Amino acid sequence: MSNGMKIKFWGVRGSYPAPGAGTVKYGGNTPSVEIRAGERTILLDAGTGIIPLGRELARTKRANEILLLLSHLHNDHTQGFPFFVPAYLPNTKLHIYGPDGTHESMKNVLERNQSSETFPLGLRDMASAKDIQAVRESEVIVWDEAGVRVVESGTGLSDEAVVIRIHKSYAHPGGVFMYRITWRGQSVVYATDTEGYVGTDKRLVKFAKDADVLIHDAQYLDEHYWGQLEGFPSTQGFGHSTVTMACEVAASASTGQLILFHHEPAYADDVLAGMEAKAKSLFRDSTMAYEGLEFTITPRFDYAIAPLSARERDVQYAQNG
Ligand SMILES: [Zn+2]
Ligand SMILES: [Zn+2]
Repeated sequence: MSNGMKIKFWGVRGSYPAPGAGTVKYGGNTPSVEIRAGERTILLDAGTGIIPLGRELARTKRANEILLLLSHLHNDHTQGFPFFVPAYLPNTKLHIYGPDGTHESMKNVLERNQSSETFPLGLRDMASAKDIQAVRESEVIVWDEAGVRVVESGTGLSDEAVVIRIHKSYAHPGGVFMYRITWRGQSVVYATDTEGYVGTDKRLVKFAKDADVLIHDAQYLDEHYWGQLEGFPSTQGFGHSTVTMACEVAASASTGQLILFHHEPAYADDVLAGMEAKAKSLFRDSTMAYEGLEFTITPRFDYAIAPLSARERDVQYAQNG
């Protein structure tokens, strides 16, 4: 039993799915992460990892109300959505929040992904109730007893509220949203599709300061990024990081666990294992994300934890059977 936020990784690969014998250990599905804050389910991105995740939510009857946060609208972060089972369930309430595209609204892009020319079913053919909203960096997404909503300021909320802050980064073509999800004093920062800057990304360091968990893009080997890897052109400016860049952000922001994410689809498991070893030498608490990686956040600091009220205890017993 635990009072902490739970994180589970369903898709950790960047750019395009990479199935096959060489990627079995870390997995080949594109980005999708599940966060559970008590009874509330928050999903990050809708790559192909959201397909098995959706089936699991439906099977375990946790599909009543879901908040899906999109980092941006690139194909590898939305391509699983047309196959997301809860979107087809009439009793599901689905909140989809993220940024508008550079030329089109978020809703338009999602509709176009399922136009009759490209997919047999449109968004409107999916029976769930959908609340699709583009949000802005200055806004705060809140999920508490009053439901899911977007507010101007996240102050004055109870510790039981899930509070989500947004950081808009320009370190990826077209821009990308990063999210800081806080519940009961614990924070997870999701920073995928981002490229490091010389001297580290200071705005991101500030946004991720002291987070318990940092999920950070680490797509490339240094030699690949710099154009020194046989057969691979330099990827500088593509909007993705190296392990070194990810570790620099974690160290500068004094975060807890660093989870390296958005793996290069051309890399086999042994390459990723080597990158993980390197990461641990730069930032001790580093882990290469893999499909099925699941853990509960343990607070890094000794928060003064108030004794549970009788009602909270009841809820906890009920939850833990
Ligand atoms: Zn991506
Ligand atoms: Zn992208």
